[in-house]
Formats: sequence, C-alpha cells, structure tokens
Amino acid sequence: MTTIPEVYYGSNISGRPSMFANMTKKLDKILELLDLSTIEKKDKVAVKMHLGFNEGYQTVPVFFVRRVVEAIKKQGGFPFVTDNPTAVYNAVYRGYTQETCGCPIIPIAGVKDGYVTKKEVDIEGIESLDAAGALLDADVLVNLTHSKGHGSCSYGGAFKNIALGGYSGPTRWQTIHGVVQRDSYFDEEKMTKEHLEKLKEVCPRNAPAWDDKKKKASLVFYECDQCHGGEKLCVKADEGKTGWSVNPENFNSFQELMAVAAKTILDSFDAAKIFHLNFLLDITAFCDCYGMSMPAIIDDIGIVGSKDIVAVDTASLDLIAEQGLNESVIRKIPEQYMRVNPDLSTKLHPWQLIHGPLKDPYNVTKYGEARGLGSSKYKLIEVLSAEETAAMEPPKHTFESGPSFF
Ligand code: SF4
Repeated sequence: MTTIPEVYYGSNISGRPSMFANMTKKLDKILELLDLSTIEKKDKVAVKMHLGFNEGYQTVPVFFVRRVVEAIKKQGGFPFVTDNPTAVYNAVYRGYTQETCGCPIIPIAGVKDGYVTKKEVDIEGIESLDAAGALLDADVLVNLTHSKGHGSCSYGGAFKNIALGGYSGPTRWQTIHGVVQRDSYFDEEKMTKEHLEKLKEVCPRNAPAWDDKKKKASLVFYECDQCHGGEKLCVKADEGKTGWSVNPENFNSFQELMAVAAKTILDSFDAAKIFHLNFLLDITAFCDCYGMSMPAIIDDIGIVGSKDIVAVDTASLDLIAEQGLNESVIRKIPEQYMRVNPDLSTKLHPWQLIHGPLKDPYNVTKYGEARGLGSSKYKLIEVLSAEETAAMEPPKHTFESGPSFF
C-alpha cells in the first residue's frame, strides 16, 4: 500500500496576536514534523534559495532563512545557502550575508559558474544538463522556495527552485528555457522579417520576435498569454502563410524538462535527506530573477513543507487556487505590465488567469509524478491553526522580552 505524503501548513492567519501563534512558531513546528534528525553530524546541508537580483527583495525573508539554518545546526549539520553566482555576489544588498543567514553563502556552480557535472537526461531533444557542483557536493538538500508566478510555466515553486536553480547559467537559460522551441510551430522557409513584423504588430504581448543576426523568427513563449483563450491574433495575422500556431506542446516541453531536471538533482541525494519548504508570501506574478519590486497579486497564505516535491507543489497550488487573485490589486495593474483573463469566473487556476490557459501550473507536478517523484494525493496538516491558537491561553505579559536599552 502506498502511503499518502504529509504536507504541513502554517497559515499566515493566527488566532491570537501572541508569540505562540506567530509564523516563526509555525515554521518551527513544520521543521519538527519534517524531522530533520536524518541530518547527521557534519553533514553539508545545501539550503537552495533564490536570493533575488538587483532591487528585487520579495524573496524568502532572511529572518526565516536564519531560523532554518539554526535548526540545521542544532542537528550538527553544516548549512550553506546557495544560488547562482550573480545572486550570491550581490545578495548583501537584499540583506543576505553570512552574518544575517548564520552560514556561508556559496555560488551553486562556483564563482565562474563552471563547476558542474554533466548529467545525461531522458527527454526528447536534450542530451545532458550541467548540474551545479556545489549543490551536488552537499549531503542534504533543503529546497527553500519562494512561491510566485513565472512566464514560462505560470508558477515557480519547489520544482523550479531546483530544476532551474540547480544548474549552471547556460543550462538554465539556453537548454531549459530554450526547449520551448523544440517542437516546430511554423515553416521557417516561408517566414520573412516583414511577415514576422505583421504578427508582432497585432500581439499585445510583443511575443513574436525576429533575430537580425540569425535571420530567424521565434515566439517568445514566456511572454505569450495565448490571448487568454480568445482568438489568437498572431495566428489570424499569419493567414496560414507560414502555418504559425500556438501549441500546447511548446508550453508543456518546459514543464516536462523541469520535472526531469528536478529528478536529476533529487536522485543525487538520499531521499531521507531532502526537505522542501515553500513560502507563499509576497506572491508576485513574475519570477524573483526580475530584480524589481512587484505587486503581490495573491494575498499571503503561509508556509508549506513536505518531504515530497510533488505533494508540496500540488498543495501550494491548491492553496493558491483557494485563495484566488486579489482582484482589487490586479484591477489597478495596466495591461502593459500583464493582461489578466477578462473572465475571472472561468474555471482556470489563478496562474492561468494571468499567464494563459496553456500554462497549466500543475503540469510539472504531473510530469514529476509520472516519473516517480512523489504523489499529487497528499494529506494537509495545518499546524497552530487560527482555531487552535484562538483557544490557547495568552500569556500575562507579552511584547519586548529581550534586553532593553532604556
Ligand atoms: S497568442 Fe496572442 S499573446 Fe500569444 S503571441 Fe499570439 S497574439 Fe501574442
């Protein structure tokens, strides 16, 4: 009999304005339930994060990172925070330092992004991926993720954090992002720059593109919202001349490769030494790599943790679906920034309402489940719920209990 994985959830709603109901206590409880005791003394523990870029500060708050790092140290492990070299190099500007995190911050594939191991993969059109060496050197993986939107697949969660973040820049940008071009969607022989310009002109997302150097046309799938299921304006403007089409397979290939890339990283670790934590806070429409502040289009939800990557992302997506978009926020966002499906009542996931119906955020979990990475059926266990903490006796005095400067 297969066991249903447990997913632990700490909501940002508490029953009392008391420390015992704080998010910190919920995180501590989730870490306790995840059982970090499989971390052995001197184990090197990779805390894989997205540390953001430039002025993008809506990542996992260093406050929580420190808490996770201390919990790892309690087990006798040697944690290190890791991400791509650029994000690591300027992480200090976003508050992440050895002093604040409580452990070193190490570039995931070395200072020149070249410390990698070639991993062969089983997926059409791709032979191998360059997995990040510092990540593979670790004995334990803490997959510490900021859940948010993403242009290519609509959602960036636990899968994306290691599937893209666990590889060198060229693998991430050219191979994984480039897979959307694998399946052809127009006749290159019949395409001209002038014709492409016609398609570009009608597209509200500026997604059809022409490369002057290569004299080549392409669709930037990242930008395309598929006209939100309405008439595809670029396809109409093509008038069948090049057979230009907007197909599900181009979007799906990215999610399938993400599942394969995540599996390659996870297979390098002992399953008992893998922990996933998704932070559903400051949920923005686009990825942390944008390097700028963005409106939170879904209200804060909380923290979700599991040992099962399929379960943790499925549960996070279910919680996001339950929460829905913050309509008062999205109504203020101009179309130049993002287009939202005009019919918000349509039965699509919030991420599809933003990024288009063909970017089904669950696809990566389905590909992952098919490849044996976990289960989309899960048991959600809420820790320190609002009801539970509302019924708890508040302490006599609260507030500042630390040293006073007065
Ligand atoms: S389907 Fe719509 S959004 Fe996508 S490229 Fe065509 S015109 Fe642009």
